[in-house]
Amino acid sequence: MGVTGLCDICRKRAVYSCSLCGKRICQDCMTVSGICKPCAGGYKIEQDKKFIETILKGKGIDDVF
Ligand SMILES: [Zn+2]
Ligand SMILES: [Zn+2]
Repeated sequence: MGVTGLCDICRKRAVYSCSLCGKRICQDCMTVSGICKPCAGGYKIEQDKKFIETILKGKGIDDVF
């Protein structure tokens, strides 16, 4: 999903919006699942897809991959 403007977290150029909170986020602030790092708990989720999948399933979102 394309967005315009600046990342709501670090103010770089935003390229996505978070599937959970709708914040505009840049590549660096997005996790592998299309949700922002704050939503993901601030982790480096690149290493922990399972954790994110669990969060997303809990929220009824399962089509992000
Ligand atoms: Zn950012
Ligand atoms: Zn978010």
